[in-house]
Amino acid sequence: MCSEVAAEAFHNKQKMERVFSMNAGNGDYSYAQNSTWQKDELLRAKSELEECIKSWKTILECETLCIADLGCSCGPNALLITEIITTLIRNKYAHNGIRVPDFHVFYNDLPSTDFNTLFRLLSAAPPVETSYFAAGVPGSFYTRLFPPKSLHFVHSSFSLHWLSQVPPQVEDKNSKLWNKGRIYISEKGPAGIEDAYFAQFQEDFNCFLRARAKEVVEGGRMFLVLNGRLNAGRRRPTSSALCWEALGFAIQDLVSQGLIEEEKLNSFNMPYYDAFEDELRSEVDKEGSFNVVGLKVNINYDDLEEFDDKDKGIIISKQTRALLENLISYHFGEGVVDALFNRYSKVIAANIIQIDELLKESTSIILALERAIST
Ligand code: SAH
Repeated sequence: MCSEVAAEAFHNKQKMERVFSMNAGNGDYSYAQNSTWQKDELLRAKSELEECIKSWKTILECETLCIADLGCSCGPNALLITEIITTLIRNKYAHNGIRVPDFHVFYNDLPSTDFNTLFRLLSAAPPVETSYFAAGVPGSFYTRLFPPKSLHFVHSSFSLHWLSQVPPQVEDKNSKLWNKGRIYISEKGPAGIEDAYFAQFQEDFNCFLRARAKEVVEGGRMFLVLNGRLNAGRRRPTSSALCWEALGFAIQDLVSQGLIEEEKLNSFNMPYYDAFEDELRSEVDKEGSFNVVGLKVNINYDDLEEFDDKDKGIIISKQTRALLENLISYHFGEGVVDALFNRYSKVIAANIIQIDELLKESTSIILALERAIST
């Protein structure tokens, strides 16, 4: 990598680490109020989680069992998931007649996350026998976060599709992959852009696996849930890709109205990738420290079915705002946020037939891994 590109990549990663976070607090546009879709999908993955813990042969006779939730965000889903995990593990120990350990749960997310809201939720949780010790760990899960061999169980949901950065060529005016006027992989975008995104995903997921390989004890497990795609072809749009394209159209509209500078549109892209199951499996095999103990592809439930086009537009826009408002404000300025998401809801409503079609293929990939035991 030449030094200019390396400097750019550093800047891009820093932008993600310093700026990217779900909307704070408990208001109308907060992640806490706009993440029921993720909650429902997590509950739909519960039987795989049960299986992952049930089939976990290495019962660790430790005094304290350490669990990490990576990319926990600041809403109630983090608490729900840790309660489910600790209950399942507790039952497993009790069933095997082993003293139930204390639990130490580490909540990780990027430093700009509203950890205070999470801590408030935690302190409001009833101190029953299901309690655990909790700590916040700010930092990127694409880097080392914990001491060697200190984690027994790692959970991460709806986080690993977020890349550490946009692939640098996509925002480089001198590259043939420069995605001028668009913000994600799209039919009319430059050929090969999807490969650049895939390469970034491979690099990031490899960093994730290598860091966890050091931190997870031998025989420890990871349970990962992330957005993915149903088809192997990288050029075929997913529902998320189509929604990002629609967001690009809304930004273009604001450029035409003179509310956003064209230059700003040309230098903004989504740091996001929908992986295919084989892509995940082959990265795990290549890195070599974990064995796949479960892999399932779930077609997501369509929770918008009962709404009309206009309301679907409003709901998708609100959910997207909860994810992206901070990134959008940082790049385009706070002043355009209301106008942009307002326009976005209309663009979504206008393209709903196509989006609905692709929502039928909207996919969560559930991946259960075990840290290999060295011989
Ligand atoms: N796990 C929660 C939240 C998912 S939202 C749930 O299932 O509802 C995705 C979260 O991943 C966001 O809070 C985002 O800040 C976090 N995230 C994205 N990239 C990250 C990274 N590199 N390191 C840590 N957290 C990250």
